[in-house]
Amino acid sequence: MLKRLLRKIKNNLIFLVLIALISALVYVGFVYIFHKPSFELFAKDTISYSGLKATINTENVSIVSIHISGSKDGTNLVDIYKQEEFLDGGNQINIEIKFKTNSPVVKMIRSENIDHFYLHYSISYKNSFFTSFIKDKIKLKIDFDPPKISNIRSDGYIYQGGIGYVLYDTSVDAIKSYVDTGVGKMFYPISILKDDKISNLVFFTCSNLPCKNNKIIVVAEDRSGNKVSLSKKINTLSKKAWPTSDIKINSKFLLMKYNEIKKDNKTSAGLKEFRELNINERAKNDQLLTMKTEKIRNELLFNGKFVQMKNSKVFSTYSEKRNYFIDGIEGSVDSKYHLGIDLASTANAKVNPSNRGIVSYVDNDGLGIYGKSIVIDHGLGFYTLYSHLNTISVGIGEKVDTDSVIGNTGSTGYAFGDHLHFATYIQGVSFNPIELFDSKYINLKIIKIYKEFIKEQPK
Ligand SMILES: [Zn+2]
Repeated sequence: MLKRLLRKIKNNLIFLVLIALISALVYVGFVYIFHKPSFELFAKDTISYSGLKATINTENVSIVSIHISGSKDGTNLVDIYKQEEFLDGGNQINIEIKFKTNSPVVKMIRSENIDHFYLHYSISYKNSFFTSFIKDKIKLKIDFDPPKISNIRSDGYIYQGGIGYVLYDTSVDAIKSYVDTGVGKMFYPISILKDDKISNLVFFTCSNLPCKNNKIIVVAEDRSGNKVSLSKKINTLSKKAWPTSDIKINSKFLLMKYNEIKKDNKTSAGLKEFRELNINERAKNDQLLTMKTEKIRNELLFNGKFVQMKNSKVFSTYSEKRNYFIDGIEGSVDSKYHLGIDLASTANAKVNPSNRGIVSYVDNDGLGIYGKSIVIDHGLGFYTLYSHLNTISVGIGEKVDTDSVIGNTGSTGYAFGDHLHFATYIQGVSFNPIELFDSKYINLKIIKIYKEFIKEQPK
């Protein structure tokens, strides 16, 4: 009797233990599958000179430890990251490790030929009954070889406010390359992939300034984020101070333009409204123009030199420094560089494109201080802008040439009288249009260079 009872208890106990074990396994599996943290690793799980960046999302779990180490033939050789105590609370952990070319870790990786790293992690998952721990690892690759830049060629000079060019080759592992001229906006190449290299051509400007330190910097980057940069000497010819002019604004004009541009109904305008137009609105409009003129169409649409509007006179040149004065306020209230040229003709004069191209942007409603405007894409990253128009007679996507009528001049936007504000942009940065009106210059600096560049294209 007693024996039977004991056996029954024993069987039940075994059964209970089994149930507990199976539940624990199912539970751990559940945690592993449904609460595994997600890892977003920078650059294809690769450790490179640009470092290692990882974002770890840990919903419902807390990270106990993270440990990144390099190994060779299964032996752990070097630790690059170790964190054991994470503060509870956050759902996201960011890891950022930077390496310097000469750091001991990089030297070690190179000398020992370490082929991969592991990111080990352990997490804990808590519920009201117990806590479970899970350990796992992620394999990381190593890439400390930046791409190569070679054969940089240029005529080595630019006119202040003008266009320059540079040709260079990059190794095929370069996923991107660009030219930094110090204007805060990079210039990207037209590229041709060959068997063992990429040929690149970049047209650039240093904007209205001399090129910083008389050089430009060519940068190439691979998919792991490894970068290499080389500088090329570029002399700025004809360094000059741009002309200055004083512009006096009366409050009646300011009020009228403020209400027109801001679509407002104010009854008086002063310094506050002037600043809103000349600083905030202008910055917003210029930002939009940069966006509308920065794409590179890999095609030469223009044909020879650009032409100035028929029967027009330049009355305000590129990069003129304008000092603004307002009625009743002592001294200049602001100054800005003029990023184009102003052309005067008869009122409501017909406007033709300066060269062949495709209309890429039209603003019938008025582009802020620029008023009704048209942007034409001429290919290779070159664009022209036509502003303060009275009427617009083309639409986006239309192919135009120098005999097409695209609109009529006017004084929409922040314009004092009927005129055409004409501007040229290369990859979103304005430059002196006068350069493009010169056929010798445009052939030497742009057309000939591009034609020779594409001639090298493999068939
Ligand atoms: Zn203008």
